[in-house]
Amino acid sequence: MGTVAVRVAQGYKSFPGLTEPVLGGLDLDIDTGEFLVVLGSSGSGKSTLLRIVAGLDQLDRGTITWPETDDAARPHTGVVFQQPLLMPWLTVRENIGFGGRFAAHRDRFDAVYADELLDAFGLAGLADRYPEQLSGGQAQRVAVIRAVAVRPRLLLLDEPFSALDPAIRADLQDWLGDLARELGFTTVLVTHDIDEALRLAGRIALLGTGGRVQQQWHLDRAGFTDSERQRLRTEIFARYRDSTLETA
Ligand code: ADP
Ligand code: MG
Repeated sequence: MGTVAVRVAQGYKSFPGLTEPVLGGLDLDIDTGEFLVVLGSSGSGKSTLLRIVAGLDQLDRGTITWPETDDAARPHTGVVFQQPLLMPWLTVRENIGFGGRFAAHRDRFDAVYADELLDAFGLAGLADRYPEQLSGGQAQRVAVIRAVAVRPRLLLLDEPFSALDPAIRADLQDWLGDLARELGFTTVLVTHDIDEALRLAGRIALLGTGGRVQQQWHLDRAGFTDSERQRLRTEIFARYRDSTLETA
């Protein structure tokens, strides 16, 4: 077993007006360097969980800890949302440099590294374009590069491809998988899309009823045959449907 990068223990989170807590005693370890996909139906609490891991929101009860860091401090984290949220008045290169303007990131960003990333991940030709000159898929790739250009230890993605045309989704998923492998950081992606989970995950955690992890699957990516994928898909789909029916 590897080391644990993030540990959520007995995490509770409620919002005013909801009868049940969104997270109801959630336990989840995120291992250093893994690609974890948190799968769950709409409203199951995926974004809430991701925002808490990102430090954009807080648990009501329970703890979130970072056992791996020396001072137990939150590691540098990059976040990608469903929409790319690029600044329309800045070029691609300037958008990527934007993260480097913040004091917290200044010593972690350098323009040479950003250009290397653009080059390595197929976007060098877009560096001088403005967001309105990009396709949806290109814009989302830029948003990912912007998030990783400040050298995060942890990359968090909230349904990053769900607004895109299904025809290009698989390409972007493969692109993200390559990027995560090559840069080697811990990645957590939340999605309601089982096929996306199967395409990317080293581990899938199903967020089920009661705001807890209902079941987990470890995927042996090296030996992942089509028939194994199909078997797993059927199994996960059945569990996913159960959890959706219970929350509906
Ligand atoms: P998911 O991302 O899985 O679709 P969310 O985490 O966005 O789910 O939301 C889980 C539940 O919490 C939903 O019922 C949603 O309406 C509710 N919720 C999320 N954020 C807030 C908020 N700021 N105030 C009130 N309710 C919220
Ligand atoms: Mg969401």
